[in-house]
Amino acid sequence: MRTDYSKPLGDIGPESLDRLSGTADKKYLQQMQISRDLQEAEPRQFCLLCQHPLKGSRFIHRGVDYVRCGQCSHVQSLALPLDGYPHHDDQVPFHAVYPPLEPAAYQDRIDRIYKPKLDWFLQVLADEGINNSELQSKKWVELGCGAGYFLSSLATEGFKNIAGFDMDAELVKRANAMTPDHVTAMQTADSLQDTVSSNPAGIYIAFFVLEHVADLYSFFQQLRKLPSKTIFYFSVPMFGMSCMLENAFNGFYARNLDNVVHTQVFTEKSVGYALDMAEFELVSQWVFGQDAEDFCRFIVSSLRDFYPDDLLEESGGALLKIQDKLQNLFDLNHLSDQRHIIAVKR
Ligand SMILES: [Zn+2]
Repeated sequence: MRTDYSKPLGDIGPESLDRLSGTADKKYLQQMQISRDLQEAEPRQFCLLCQHPLKGSRFIHRGVDYVRCGQCSHVQSLALPLDGYPHHDDQVPFHAVYPPLEPAAYQDRIDRIYKPKLDWFLQVLADEGINNSELQSKKWVELGCGAGYFLSSLATEGFKNIAGFDMDAELVKRANAMTPDHVTAMQTADSLQDTVSSNPAGIYIAFFVLEHVADLYSFFQQLRKLPSKTIFYFSVPMFGMSCMLENAFNGFYARNLDNVVHTQVFTEKSVGYALDMAEFELVSQWVFGQDAEDFCRFIVSSLRDFYPDDLLEESGGALLKIQDKLQNLFDLNHLSDQRHIIAVKR
């Protein structure tokens, strides 16, 4: 198994600046308010990933009880979120969280975030002896394609047989508007496993989707039925440095395990357990994250009440300067908040 490390944090650019803006306090209060609903929900009986009775290490994360499953190591809220959680009357849908981008900004996001994902994938497979023409002949299906950034990268790279699925009709509309005619994005209300079962493909992609699935066991059981050599390329949030920081500095909004959008995160052991269950071989992983950015944000936000502007700016600047090196250290020690993984069916 091959492991690659790190990616400059500069690549995530404007998105990270947004996080330091004045909306931060409001976001924190909203997270705390919404996650109170979890305290009224019933406890889970079974682990959502391995389906064993849920026992293991219990801990409290920003006021919410969590369990790391003793069987598969998956981290999940002790409470089973109620249907529709975290949707509130005053809450905005996904497509409103990500407003439509002008074509230039759309392309910029592809170049910074999605093109590197594709480049890494193609490089790893080339090293495995799977060349471009073989990949050209395969059907690609992206689960949770959003506004179609990765679909666009695929189309630009010359891949023809591509389809994407998403639950958000507005995002699907945007994906279809931004990609060439031979790329199809479709709105679906089906579960992930049903989407896989009704759309045979050689390559499945799922970036930051699995952590929103309430029954991962059934999804990985579905993957188990796929033909040998099927490729699964996915990314998931991990229990790592950001999770620890979010709990240690619990007066600021969380980005990783926020108790709202995310009520479960993977561990390296739970990723391995899931792939074993599906009879997939982990071929390669790319270890990078945004933990160092959280690290800087939490420290600067904590010092805001104690330091005058000049000292705060100086200290913040010094931290920003070492951000990439710090992240590299977290990555090399497998503490980063996410994994990109390429797995192949045995
Ligand atoms: Zn488990």
